[in-house]
Amino acid sequence: MQRQIPVYEPATGEVLAYVPDMSINEVRDAISKAYDALPRIQSIPAYERAKLLMKVAQAIRARKEELARLLTREIGRPIKSTRLILERTARIYELAAQELPHVLTGEFIPLEAYDYPAGNEKRIAFIRREPVGVVGAITPFNFPPDSMAHKVAPALAIGNTVVLKPSRNSPLTETEIAKIITEVGFPEGSINVVTGDSSMIGDEFVNNPKVSLITFTGSSKVGLNLASRAILMGKRVIMELGGSDAMIILEDADLNKAVQAATVGRFDYAGQFCNATKRLIVRDEVYDEFIKRLTESVSKLKIGDPLREDTDVGPLISREAVETMEFFVNDALSKGGRIIYRVSGVPERGFYYPPTILEAPFNSAVWIEEVFGPVLPVARVKDDDEAVELANRTEYGLDASIFSRNFSRAYKLATRIKAGTIFINDTTRLRFDNLPFGGFKKSGIGRESVRDTMIEMSEVKVISYTLD
Ligand code: NAD
Repeated sequence: MQRQIPVYEPATGEVLAYVPDMSINEVRDAISKAYDALPRIQSIPAYERAKLLMKVAQAIRARKEELARLLTREIGRPIKSTRLILERTARIYELAAQELPHVLTGEFIPLEAYDYPAGNEKRIAFIRREPVGVVGAITPFNFPPDSMAHKVAPALAIGNTVVLKPSRNSPLTETEIAKIITEVGFPEGSINVVTGDSSMIGDEFVNNPKVSLITFTGSSKVGLNLASRAILMGKRVIMELGGSDAMIILEDADLNKAVQAATVGRFDYAGQFCNATKRLIVRDEVYDEFIKRLTESVSKLKIGDPLREDTDVGPLISREAVETMEFFVNDALSKGGRIIYRVSGVPERGFYYPPTILEAPFNSAVWIEEVFGPVLPVARVKDDDEAVELANRTEYGLDASIFSRNFSRAYKLATRIKAGTIFINDTTRLRFDNLPFGGFKKSGIGRESVRDTMIEMSEVKVISYTLD
């Protein structure tokens, strides 16, 4: 009998469903199916693949409410957000269809303008893009359908096939969308979902010669280990990893907007975003006023059942995640930190942790590690140089944000912060699907936008022709 893995519902702590605990042979079969499907997907003209992607988007929209409820139950993200996520997911498939003609274009080059090697007057060259082959895609628990879309839509558009490994915490919505992809007419084997032991599946992606590229979104520790081994095997990698985004509030900021951005940035989906605002840096002149307003704002958040329409903050993904937050806060307190504000009265059943704002010495783990939950350390700084130095004092570099009414001052700071996207007067919790997204330092390798990913997921080939 097939062994099964339980998927828990974070709001109740109870088992929601089971998925197969696949053996290594089943994973190998899935990879072989993807490999064997390559000629079938590549025999479909690119414009037909684009039409199929549009159909995926339509089918997701047609089932939006049902999928949003499933997603809320599996990851604990409030329903008002998961509806938006499903809409965003549909748009990513559409964007891949729209970008395809711009990416799948080539060049014709008469080589006569360059005199080395000799005889170029008789040569012409063509540059074209070809699919890499089988893509091994690994997604995190917090962004299941949209992270999947950022990998699968560009892969299928360009003519690759995919073996998809969702997080064991959140395989259900991704499995439904994979079924949709086959139902709309992508050839059998174009997408194959594998569930089971993560490291076994990761190792098989690395070692199996039928996998050409690994695209991974998740923690830096797992991703960099996987990437280094995959590169040694000659594979392409795209890595979207952890973050510890700083928000800097200057004394000339619109404080109300900054408060709103910090509240959303840290506490939306209980802080479980790669680009959540994980460190707050405030100029001394406005520190006390800012903290007062932030506390008021956080106290108004509605915490509870994520299926309720008015819930702002739901549970964390697992009991271990709650324990990790307890560790972060206790560590800060043991080193002389203090809690500025903590929401009271979170549900006892399920994996809840109260939104917490704290001051902590810089040797506390909250300032050093990625805090993937609703705990926000704040620091007061005397000038802009100190703010930049503190923002950069991390091994991550995903996003950052700066609040100031003075554009040239904020712009100059933005050029000094080592991160992939800098938002001026906005929350870090944004991502533009048509722009390069990714990080400096340990936050990633390569960039994901639908167009960038298509480029990364294709090989460039030069074909030279010597005329008679
Ligand atoms: P994680 O690293 O624990 O898991 C990510 C995925 O890797 C999951 O599917 C997991 O099952 C799998 N995995 C775990 N061990 C593996 C192994 N040895 N080999 C192969 N696969 C393995 O991360 P998570 O807890 O699911 O997600 C949170 C992390 O993801 C945070 O660090 C967050 O910042 C990051 N993240 C980054 C982005 C981004 O775009 N940069 C987006 C979302 C999440």
